[in-house]
Amino acid sequence: MSKPLVIAVDGPSGSGKSSVCRAVATELGLEYLDTGSMYRAATWYVQSKGADLLNTAQIADLVSSAVVVPSTDPAEPGIKVGEVDVSEPIRGEVVTQAVSAVSAIPQVRQVMVALQREIVAKSHSGIVVEGRDICAVVLPDAPVKLFITADPQARAARRAIEVGANMSETNASMEKRDHADSTRAMSPLEIAKDATVIDTTYMELSEVIIQVIDLARSYRG
Ligand code: C5P
Repeated sequence: MSKPLVIAVDGPSGSGKSSVCRAVATELGLEYLDTGSMYRAATWYVQSKGADLLNTAQIADLVSSAVVVPSTDPAEPGIKVGEVDVSEPIRGEVVTQAVSAVSAIPQVRQVMVALQREIVAKSHSGIVVEGRDICAVVLPDAPVKLFITADPQARAARRAIEVGANMSETNASMEKRDHADSTRAMSPLEIAKDATVIDTTYMELSEVIIQVIDLARSYRG
C-alpha cells in the first residue's frame, strides 16, 4: 500500500491558504491541520491563566501542560483546550495581538511541533498541514510542499473581509504580525527551498484549488 499523502503548506495571513487547504483536503479525502489554530489556542490558554507575556519561562511551563486538541476534519475545523472549545475566542483581537510573541518562544514551538508530527504520523488517510514552518521544519520530508502568498494589499483586503474590520487597521495589524513571524530567531516564516510558490494576488481561489489538486494528483500518479 502507498504511504498516506502529506501536503505541507506555508504562507502569510490573508494569502488564502486556509480556504485552499480545506477545499483541497475535502476534495482529496484527506485530513486537515491548521497549525496556526494550535498557536492561537496555546496563546488563549496562557492568557486565560493571566500569564505575563514577557515571562517566557512561565509561558513555556503553562504551554507544556496544556492539552491542545485540534480537529482534523476539513468540514468541521475547530480546536479545544482540554474540554473547552476555543474555536471562536482564538480568532479575536486579544489572541491575535499576542500570538506572534507566544509562538516565538522556542519551548512553545517544540511542544507544538511534536504534537503536529504526532497527528500527522497517526493520519491514515493523508493530511494537508498549513502554517509558517511546515515545509522546512515540521515536515521536511513531505512529498508536496507549497508556499501560498499574495501581495500585502490583497492580503489585507481579504483579512478585512474575513474579520469584518477596516482595511487600514487590518493592514497595520497584519504587517506587524508578518514582521514578527518573519524575523523571529526560531523557524521564521520563509519560503522553503523546495517549495512551489503560488502567488494568489490575481487568482480566484477556485483556480488556486485546482492548481494544488493537480499538483497533488501528479504526485500520487
Ligand atoms: O495562521 P494564523 O494566522 O492563524 O497563525 C497565527 C499565528 O501563529 C501566526 O501569526 C504565527 O505567529 C503563529 N504560527 C507559527 N507557526 C505556524 C503557524 C502559525 O508560528 N506553523
